[in-house]
Amino acid sequence: MVGWLLAGSMLAGACTASSPEVERAAPSGASEATPATEASSQPAAQGSVGRILEHLEALDRIAQRNGGTRAVGSEGYDESVAYVSRHMRQLGYSVVSDRFDFDYFEQLSPTRVERLKPRKAYVDGRDVRAMVYSGAGRVSAPVEPVGFDLRSNDHTGAGCSSDDFSDLPTGSIALLRPGPCYYRDQVVNAQEAGAAAVILAFPEFTRATGVLRPTLLSGAGIEIPALAATDGTGVELARSRTRLRITARTRYSPLRGVSLIAERREARAGDVLMVGGHLDSVMDGPGINDNGSGIATILEMARAVAAKEPDAPVRFAFWGGEEIGLLGSTAYVESLSSQQTTSIEAYLNFDMVASPNFVRYVYEDEIAPAGSDEITDLFTRYFNRQDIEFKTIDLGGRSDHGAFIEQGIPVGGLFTGAEMLKSRRQRKDYGGRAGASMDGCYHRPCDDIDNINQKVLREMVGAIRHALFALLTR
Ligand SMILES: [Zn+2]
Repeated sequence: MVGWLLAGSMLAGACTASSPEVERAAPSGASEATPATEASSQPAAQGSVGRILEHLEALDRIAQRNGGTRAVGSEGYDESVAYVSRHMRQLGYSVVSDRFDFDYFEQLSPTRVERLKPRKAYVDGRDVRAMVYSGAGRVSAPVEPVGFDLRSNDHTGAGCSSDDFSDLPTGSIALLRPGPCYYRDQVVNAQEAGAAAVILAFPEFTRATGVLRPTLLSGAGIEIPALAATDGTGVELARSRTRLRITARTRYSPLRGVSLIAERREARAGDVLMVGGHLDSVMDGPGINDNGSGIATILEMARAVAAKEPDAPVRFAFWGGEEIGLLGSTAYVESLSSQQTTSIEAYLNFDMVASPNFVRYVYEDEIAPAGSDEITDLFTRYFNRQDIEFKTIDLGGRSDHGAFIEQGIPVGGLFTGAEMLKSRRQRKDYGGRAGASMDGCYHRPCDDIDNINQKVLREMVGAIRHALFALLTR
């Protein structure tokens, strides 16, 4: 699951006010408490979850021996690609690499931000952080808040229009909040208006959560340092309008990434069902729930399909570059001819299906094309029959299904929660901890094998298997 690409991150979490705490997966013993599911599906689900955990352990080991990341462009990603490719081939699938161009971003040293009077150093990761594709440079300039109203409860930022910067003194550091456009647009507008750097203060980042690394989607056209900051840092800077010294050492270089596309050679001709999830992690973590969980589940579904319906018209996709802007899936669908596009009957996306402090979500994007509601119904009817609590969610295309929505292809999927805080109501319905993130390790180094909730994973696997075979055999 990519971070929100524009203001909107408060949608799901707005109902709780308490500070987020890290919630780790219950020890595996706690999975005994799983409510009874369809008795006949239980042994199959057990075996499935065992195999899925083996895949997750393998992906975790890959990350650990490659600096704790499987981000696209890293060796951890290349090893993940090799792992999935080998498994799919062993299952009898033919696997092709689908290539896409992207900018490989690196931060060469911690970003330094110092207030000169009174002296204070803001800490990289805790208070501020260079965004993915931030420009490099050394800047010493006064902070200039733009549309940063401290009295209003509306935290939607300005800067989506170049007019917003008409009063900005050239050479200053523009202080913004996320607005209703891509962060990239805000940064480019500020840069064109003469800003020397941009600080974007995110309402959802606090000293307790630290600052994640939002993406500017590509390095093209970004020349100035562009930093994310906590809400508190933003408020402090807006009040004092002081001078800051910023040193950002970043770089990016053009690189070629791959997604994997797998099909059975003997598949029946005709329309195809696609099933996919993203294989890359963020640069700051091993990505075992996000999205090792989706990948491992898809590998297990590919095994089940090969065993039961070897000629099923299904195509599996393992996307690269989701975390820096849905790159692999977008490149793939944009490369299809209109005939190839219309031959895709539907696309199922699985991104984060084992969140430790979970809520069970079924995709229901308002912008999803006609036909998507049938997929939503398949999942919701299944959960209703099993007497399992769930909610539908509008993800606004915030994962790889977004690229398919753009092409008019029906989509669906399941999701168990990311950085959003669990409300009291959700605590009642699903257990876990209210006021804590559904995945406290979202986009962090602790998203490792211990971040997997086996109970919800088993339930998701049951639902996915049901929907997948229902679609393949209808
Ligand atoms: Zn993610």
